[in-house]
Amino acid sequence: MRKISLILLSVLLLAAPVSASGREDVVYSWNCSDKRIALTFDDGPHPTQTPEILDILREYGIRATFFVIGQNAEWYGDCLAMVYAEGHEIGNHSFSHANLTEAGYDGVCREIDEAERLIGERIEYRPHLLRPPGGQLGEELCRAASERDYTLVCWSVDTLDWAHTPPDVIAQNVLSNTEGGDIILFHDYVSGESPTPAALRIIIPGLLAEGYEFVTVSELIGAEE
Ligand SMILES: [Zn+2]
Repeated sequence: MRKISLILLSVLLLAAPVSASGREDVVYSWNCSDKRIALTFDDGPHPTQTPEILDILREYGIRATFFVIGQNAEWYGDCLAMVYAEGHEIGNHSFSHANLTEAGYDGVCREIDEAERLIGERIEYRPHLLRPPGGQLGEELCRAASERDYTLVCWSVDTLDWAHTPPDVIAQNVLSNTEGGDIILFHDYVSGESPTPAALRIIIPGLLAEGYEFVTVSELIGAEE
């Protein structure tokens, strides 16, 4: 009996998310022995930047995960519908990109629920993944997420595209730091000119040549989409 429990425990441990902060309820990357990785795009949808990224992903036949802001889903519903129709996974990134560590429990719930409602209204899909704005985690957020059966997802590789890092620097960083199981953070909305499309045009062929396979976050972690 004891032996069985030990085996079970090791299986559970092997399947556990890798947690950079020590929190076991947040996914940063996934322990896997193969070369599967997940590209993620935050802060959209945006009427010009999102379609540009969709074009590149379509060209390479790659599915990614888009963490959508509820307010943008309301403003640019057609764009959200396009992302979803092309087979990408949609995650919740709050209604207004507020700092959820300062919103209080009720405020956190409103931010999650309102984004979920607006996404659902447009594409009739209920996200299962929640990415906190800025990756900032608090007890109230973790509680609200768990009550709603959301998996909290951060990232293990930050491209720093949001800081207008030059495309070749982003590409160099991603190509030299990525390993199987990584969750890579990009943005499909960056204020001003976005370096993301040009970086993707270097990164995707580079990682494909190294044998990486691109999957959605739910596929990576073995969850239902
Ligand atoms: Zn964000």
